Amino acid sequence: MLSHLLHLEGIDSVVLESRSRDRVEQRQRAGILEQGTVDVLRASGVGDRMDRQGLVHEGIELRFDRECHRIDFPSLTGGRAVMVYAQTEVVKDLIARRLADGGHVLFEAEATAVEGISADGTSADKMDGGRPTITFRHGDAEHTLRCDVVVACDGFHGMGRRCVPAGTLHTWTRTYPFAWLGILADVPPSCDELIYARHERGFALHSMRSPTVSRLYLQVTPDADLADWSDERIWDELEARFAVHSDWNLERGPITEKGITPMRSFVAEPMRHGRLFLAGDAAHIVPPTGAKGLNLAVADVTLLARALTRWFADGDHAAVDAYSQTALRRVWRAEHFSYLMTTMLHPDPEAGDFECRLQLANLRYTVASTAAATVVAENYVGAASA
Ligand SMILES: Cc1cc2nc3c(=O)[nH]c(=O)nc-3n(C[C@H](O)[C@H](O)[C@H](O)COP(=O)(O)OP(=O)(O)OC[C@H]3O[C@@H](n4cnc5c(N)ncnc54)[C@H](O)[C@@H]3O)c2cc1C
Repeated sequence: MLSHLLHLEGIDSVVLESRSRDRVEQRQRAGILEQGTVDVLRASGVGDRMDRQGLVHEGIELRFDRECHRIDFPSLTGGRAVMVYAQTEVVKDLIARRLADGGHVLFEAEATAVEGISADGTSADKMDGGRPTITFRHGDAEHTLRCDVVVACDGFHGMGRRCVPAGTLHTWTRTYPFAWLGILADVPPSCDELIYARHERGFALHSMRSPTVSRLYLQVTPDADLADWSDERIWDELEARFAVHSDWNLERGPITEKGITPMRSFVAEPMRHGRLFLAGDAAHIVPPTGAKGLNLAVADVTLLARALTRWFADGDHAAVDAYSQTALRRVWRAEHFSYLMTTMLHPDPEAGDFECRLQLANLRYTVASTAAATVVAENYVGAASA
């Protein structure tokens, strides 16, 4: 996305991706695009397929105590909604567009070192420092690129963040006493909208990737083993957690993919060190309950593309200097919302009956009060100001 936005401003870049094209285009992860993400994809000319195939969602359902409660986005947020369009499809559209535009996108090219990013990334004059180099392996050979800037968009496990000298970054980490077991199934969604269900057996999420493919999740213990989860056990557990007093049926179908995702909150500050910038999961992780990870990554690089454009076009580095602080305001808002959704909907196996009752009281208040429902709706669609 960053490479595409920079290209539109006439700025050249090289994308290094350690995995194969096939792998990054098939890797199932996020699927909810905030209005702001949709707007950026459309405005930059890569939204056509999304507009044809994406599903606009105007609400979500909160399900607890065997009852269904809808949070209506447009009425609570001044007309906003979200788009269901899988991350795999966004990635395919962006890769196709970069390659069609003659972009340099190298697959199976693993970055191994970044050097010369300058000592102190906090002040403006550091933009005058030397140009950094990035070393990477491609094919059987090692290569070095000299750059104006390096942007670490290499995810939580990438090496970019680790190139910042020790002691410079402040980090915050929170792990949760549960994980998500996610499945992809060849079955039409059982409901037109996402269902976030809190059940005493654990949380469950019903979502979709397309009109014929469902994506469902179950709260499991962090040490859960996929080998213990047969397809039948997964469907039985989903059915139990989605059960309601009224007539509702969970459609079953062939499971095509299963995986377990740990739940973690993480922030690294600042998001810049000299000429090295951090963006997306390289700088922050949210538990997926708020559907924010992909949207934060797009917001970071949209901000950074504008800032770099100003710097390269006329030497104005004010926006580049403000990048970390500006991005982190949105990051912390999303961290809070993701934490809120997670702790509101997942029974904590280590907590007692008191916490359980507080959780239910909070859920009842959220669906009964317009003010409380607006907090969920505004944050979910991405309209809440930081
Ligand atoms: C199982 C799962 C489910 C998720 N579900 C949701 C969801 O429902 N909603 C949501 O909003 N978010 C979700 N997320 C999070 C979302 O996918 C991420 O927040 C988003 O992909 C972040 O984008 P990114 O570009 O920062 O990092 P990534 O998408 O991780 O991209 C980083 C890339 O860098 C590459 N890389 C790493 N190291 C190197 C190296 N040394 N050299 C070259 N390349 C390298 C990696 O191969 C990778 O392709 C989920 C994540 C996971 C893992």
